[in-house]
Amino acid sequence: MDTSKKTSNVYYNREDSKKVDVSNDVWKNILSPEVYKIAREKGTERPGSSEFEYKKDVGTYYCAVCGNTLFKSDTKFESGCGWPSFYEPFSKTSIIYLPDNSYGMKRTEVQCGKCHSHLGHVFEDGPPPTGLRYCINGVVLDFEKAQEAEKKFDGKKE
Ligand SMILES: [Zn+2]
Repeated sequence: MDTSKKTSNVYYNREDSKKVDVSNDVWKNILSPEVYKIAREKGTERPGSSEFEYKKDVGTYYCAVCGNTLFKSDTKFESGCGWPSFYEPFSKTSIIYLPDNSYGMKRTEVQCGKCHSHLGHVFEDGPPPTGLRYCINGVVLDFEKAQEAEKKFDGKKE
């Protein structure tokens, strides 16, 4: 496992939502090869290969390239498609949408709204309330568990 990617990535920042516009030549030296391939060359990870696919922990998913907040765990669901799936992004600016007609299919590509990295695709066969399925490569996601305090608060409600 490559654990060096975040320490050397000066563009990774969870607090700053300013757009990140960095060339692939630069990214290539910062990101691990597997993240680079998917985020910058629109690759797809092997289905079923992500540790996040069945993850149920409460927390937040960030862009592994720039730290942008992408999804909350409460919008995650098990689609059985082989990739981590969500029905709604964290905010309107989390994600941008682009038509993708590659491989003879009409799909909608989703990219990070902050650094324009490729994340995956969105399909219209998701659960309510949105009916959408954001099918995301786990390689380009960073997960952080919710604070202990939040969890205790959730527990009190039961
Ligand atoms: Zn990003």
